Amino acid sequence: MNSVEIKKIWDEVKKELKSIVPASTYDPWIEPLKAISFEGNQFTLISGESFGVQYIKQTQYKNILEAFKKCLNQEIIVNIEFSQEYAEKRKEELKKIKQKEQKIQQKEESEKKAIENNSYLCGANINLRYRFDNFVEDDNNKMAKRTAMKVAENPSVLYNPLYIQGGSGLGKTHLMQAIGHYVIPKKKYKVLCVKTEDFINDYINSTAFVPNKNTNSAMNKFRNKYRNVDILLIDDIQFIENKKKCIDELFNTLDTLYNANKQIVLTSDKLPKDLPEIPKRLRTRFEQGLVVEILPPEFDTRVQILKNLAVEKNVNEVPDEVFEYIATHYKDNVRELEGAFTKLSAYAEIEETSITLEFAKHVLKCEENTNKPSIDKVINTVANYFNITADNIKSTSRVQNISKARAITCYIIRNYLQKSFQQIGEALNKKHQTVMFAEDKIRNSIKKDKSLKEEINKILDILNL
Ligand code: ADP
Ligand code: MG
Repeated sequence: MNSVEIKKIWDEVKKELKSIVPASTYDPWIEPLKAISFEGNQFTLISGESFGVQYIKQTQYKNILEAFKKCLNQEIIVNIEFSQEYAEKRKEELKKIKQKEQKIQQKEESEKKAIENNSYLCGANINLRYRFDNFVEDDNNKMAKRTAMKVAENPSVLYNPLYIQGGSGLGKTHLMQAIGHYVIPKKKYKVLCVKTEDFINDYINSTAFVPNKNTNSAMNKFRNKYRNVDILLIDDIQFIENKKKCIDELFNTLDTLYNANKQIVLTSDKLPKDLPEIPKRLRTRFEQGLVVEILPPEFDTRVQILKNLAVEKNVNEVPDEVFEYIATHYKDNVRELEGAFTKLSAYAEIEETSITLEFAKHVLKCEENTNKPSIDKVINTVANYFNITADNIKSTSRVQNISKARAITCYIIRNYLQKSFQQIGEALNKKHQTVMFAEDKIRNSIKKDKSLKEEINKILDILNL
């Protein structure tokens, strides 16, 4: 039998195995096996890893025999052997794949950064990319967009505070910063835009004991920064939960601003009533103005967002069916929708090819990915496994099991969902270097730490990965 026919049989058998063997075993150990001969009733496979040969023989031999029987309608003997020559070839191949992947990832990340860093509005932490005119409106976000525009046109008059709620990646930060972007050039108002995490860190730094430090003056500086503004924009306010002292300070900050008729805008992935750890007096403050919700965008909106992104990135001649293909498969998170297009355009550039539907399917593999869990599902599953909350994972806590859960989350999302460090960082509210470091640490630790590997395998099983 010639090598093409042998490969064809093995591809068929692999397909069968892929449907029954967990991905955590299939991907590293079965996929790289190479079929080299089929003589008499003996089929021979080679592996580039001696440990892999033993492991497969011990744990998957029965499955392999059955898969062959199913595909060939006959019982055969399967030899699995280690090959030094193949090991070296694989090493070379893997090195090349890794280099290419790294190149693509760097490109993907630098492109995204280039767009985002499109220079920040000086001093106010406002990303120039986030404007009202490029926020595509539909029935699911209309109310949020219109009220944000009203606030920008007439601060402190209508809705105070404006509380924008919506799931991850639905445009909360975009709308909030669009207010700042609209207002700042008019130079009429002093605007401060911060992440809740920055507010917390600023507060901790100003109260921390340092010998010879004048705590009063540090506190005054803090209060001056947050209270001496006309418009305060605070992003992801849900992270204030459980930060008792900061909660008091936030309450007093909002109270002072509100009483001085200053505009407050807050965003959160939860409604105020779904933040049980926040005291009622603060929750009432959140609800005092207007709470608006953003829901996932409709199909046409998703297509339009992609088309705008292509123009922004100067990627031309993308057929409509490609936009529609991506929009069909990325429904719940605009960040991931945009991430898919960024990845596709980076691949097209590196491989010097035009973007067709076939190429998009090859790169994004959406059909395969539909069965994969979402980033949020991974975060929630890891949190459940460690008996902590998803917000703990997204927090800055260094408590040992929280840090460990966070690092495992990074590792799983990167290696099993194939998301970029940038995307993981955005989902976890972390810098992309932090994610890289955490992922790297776990990847290296599991080589030595058997119990860690077992823990991760248990989580992967729960996630069906
Ligand atoms: P959130 O803060 O809700 O997690 P972001 O505001 O960071 O989400 O939005 C994620 C990405 O999606 C940003 O690049 C943003 O510009 C884009 N985006 C979200 N909704 C829209 C929309 N309706 N129109 C255009 N871009 C959008
Ligand atoms: Mg945000």
